[in-house]
Amino acid sequence: MTVWDALVGQDAVVATLRAAAAAARSGSTTGPGATGGQRSGMTHSWLFTGPAGAGREDAARAFAASLSCEREPPGCGECPGCHTVLTDTATDLRTVTPEGLSLGVKDVRALVRDAASAPAGGRWRILLLTEADRLTESAANALLKALEEPAERAVFLLCAPSVEDVLPTIRSRCRTVALRLPAAADVRAMLLRDGVDERTARAVAAASQGHLGFARRLATDEAARAHRTAVLRIPTRLGRVGDCLAAAAALVEAATADAEAANAERDEAETAALKTALGVGATAAGGRSASARAPKAGAKARAMTVRGAVGALKELERNQKSRGRRTVLDSLDRALVDLAGLYRDVLAEQLGAPVEPIHPDHAADAASLGAASTPERTLRRLEAVLATRSALADNPGLVPLLAVESLVLALRED
Ligand SMILES: [Zn+2]
Repeated sequence: MTVWDALVGQDAVVATLRAAAAAARSGSTTGPGATGGQRSGMTHSWLFTGPAGAGREDAARAFAASLSCEREPPGCGECPGCHTVLTDTATDLRTVTPEGLSLGVKDVRALVRDAASAPAGGRWRILLLTEADRLTESAANALLKALEEPAERAVFLLCAPSVEDVLPTIRSRCRTVALRLPAAADVRAMLLRDGVDERTARAVAAASQGHLGFARRLATDEAARAHRTAVLRIPTRLGRVGDCLAAAAALVEAATADAEAANAERDEAETAALKTALGVGATAAGGRSASARAPKAGAKARAMTVRGAVGALKELERNQKSRGRRTVLDSLDRALVDLAGLYRDVLAEQLGAPVEPIHPDHAADAASLGAASTPERTLRRLEAVLATRSALADNPGLVPLLAVESLVLALRED
């Protein structure tokens, strides 16, 4: 499986990145001069954009792997160059994920310093900013200097939902790679490749609305399916104020549980990959044979490795914690998208619009809700859901439960 196979429904993006990786490869063998600029297809600064769940970080990482790949054509997905990038353990890759809700100047300065040093083993020094939309203004300015005069072997890969989420000065320095929302057919094909049965794959592909991570969770995790059902039942259970508040609490709880499950799985896999790469917790037999070969040097090297490993593991833990906080908000957003999808189905029902329902498995709810209200009311409810999404995205200080409570009360009103 090549690194490109992970990019579902993104043929145009894959073609662009393949060409750039090949150009970077040929440039690096004919001399550094041939690699600069846009003409050759290789660029120092890239901006990956796309809706949540479309896989912008996956695309950036696949590209990074292809730049580190040791085989031909670049991006085999199997060599150590590819593998270490995909597991975030490559020495020439630095991934920066914001701690908390913004990416500060301190982190960016460290990144810029790092970018200036030559690659240790690979061809490129790769700097990956997974959430460039969270750069503070001073951090963005610090980054801008590095983008204006990039070190010869440095490549910056920035990820953000859209180009508007990044300062114009930054985006004008970057080549943009725009991922599209994967079509239901692409999501279905991915699930079938993963070994999901046809019936589940079809239902989940529609329900996921193009969000790959959510599709995978829905297909494999019964709790995630139960949470989705709970969210979609809310509109039919808003009889009394008490019911509304209970529904709001249930929605926030479901989002939290969903986020925790997703995080736990990912954190565990990452920690295991890092431990393996660092040789920590490797099989006892492996450790013994290494020190048996060179007892003295082995002990010294191991003391250093352990110090470095502890630091690396702590750093990973910090990153995972900050991601955990954000993922709750992401899951809540996911639930609100589901809810908006249901009201969209209600509206289509009321207007007799010939469109495929987003939630075919809740068609009966959509029909009964449609019969009990008017298109104007449905539109107001849909707008209320979308306004809550924006409010949660724009105000980091907003308490999710309060936002959802006021939403649910608004959905109850006529
Ligand atoms: Zn490779």
